[in-house]
Amino acid sequence: MKAAPFEYLRATSLDEAIEALGTPDARALAGGQSLVPLLNLRQARPSLVVDINRLDELSFLRKENGRLEIGALTRHRAVETSAVVRSEIPLLAEALGHVGHVAIRNRGTIGGSLAHADPAAELPAVMVALDADFTVRSASGERTVAARDFFLGPHRTALGRGELLTRISVPSHRGGWAVEELSRRSRDLALVAVFATVTMTGEVCESARIAVAGAGPTPIRATAAEASLTGGPMTGDAIALAAELAAAATDPPGDLHAPADYRREMAAVLTRRALARAKEGA
Ligand SMILES: Cc1cc2nc3c(=O)[nH]c(=O)nc-3n(C[C@H](O)[C@H](O)[C@H](O)COP(=O)(O)OP(=O)(O)OC[C@H]3O[C@@H](n4cnc5c(N)ncnc54)[C@H](O)[C@@H]3O)c2cc1C
Repeated sequence: MKAAPFEYLRATSLDEAIEALGTPDARALAGGQSLVPLLNLRQARPSLVVDINRLDELSFLRKENGRLEIGALTRHRAVETSAVVRSEIPLLAEALGHVGHVAIRNRGTIGGSLAHADPAAELPAVMVALDADFTVRSASGERTVAARDFFLGPHRTALGRGELLTRISVPSHRGGWAVEELSRRSRDLALVAVFATVTMTGEVCESARIAVAGAGPTPIRATAAEASLTGGPMTGDAIALAAELAAAATDPPGDLHAPADYRREMAAVLTRRALARAKEGA
């Protein structure tokens, strides 16, 4: 199948891109790894495609005040292989290794994955786990949206017409971390994936952060599970309870690939594994 007709604009400045995105039914084109298949399947029928690939100012990766600042157009592979990311936020580098194959990650962008907001995608859940902030720009200026407020439903975000995601700001984290993902084939989108970080003082859990992908309309932050661990010894029983609480917070879809009950059970299993590994690393 071929895409329905659309106008195409290769933006040469951020202002030009933002102005064009104010057109009804305009869509930004970044790496094209999700948008182009949607166009060809006619599941997306934009009036105007605004190509942002020439906007070099949106492609950067730098450490600033204990945070990693990532331009929305930065390719997955650049972030995954960055020495700074591997030392400051290894959870992010590891999670990116699960996003499709290298060819996809060479083209796909951080901003594109987040704006696409697939509930089974790795990056939205990682950003929710890490308490990232997103900078969104429009003709009327810039605003910051917390990752936990950005994802509103499957492929639905807080981005409005004429808004472009420009920057992702992620706090560095210390302590242990783990990614546990279940998918039908290696590098497929997750059936369920869990992203966890843990900091410990001796045997006591100082903080735990847990986000689950593939188990609800948006990434799920398992706050009750986190609270159950915080301030106590991280025993096997404490981890098992947290895993049950994380699973209880999910609202998984049932489909051809896996029924809802199976996904919920897997959310518990993967959370248990992720917490045990994160504790080891902490
Ligand atoms: C074979 C295959 C396997 C895949 N496997 C995975 C996987 O395992 N995990 C996973 O998470 N994804 C996977 N994907 C999806 C894909 O990798 C990501 O969704 C993709 O990389 C998104 O980034 P992009 O730059 O290509 O976005 P595009 O396809 O260019 O755009 C995606 C959407 O985001 C919007 N957009 C892009 N940039 C911005 C911006 N800066 N501001 C506002 N809106 C913007 C576009 O308008 C569009 O609606 C896979 C894709 C393929 C083809």
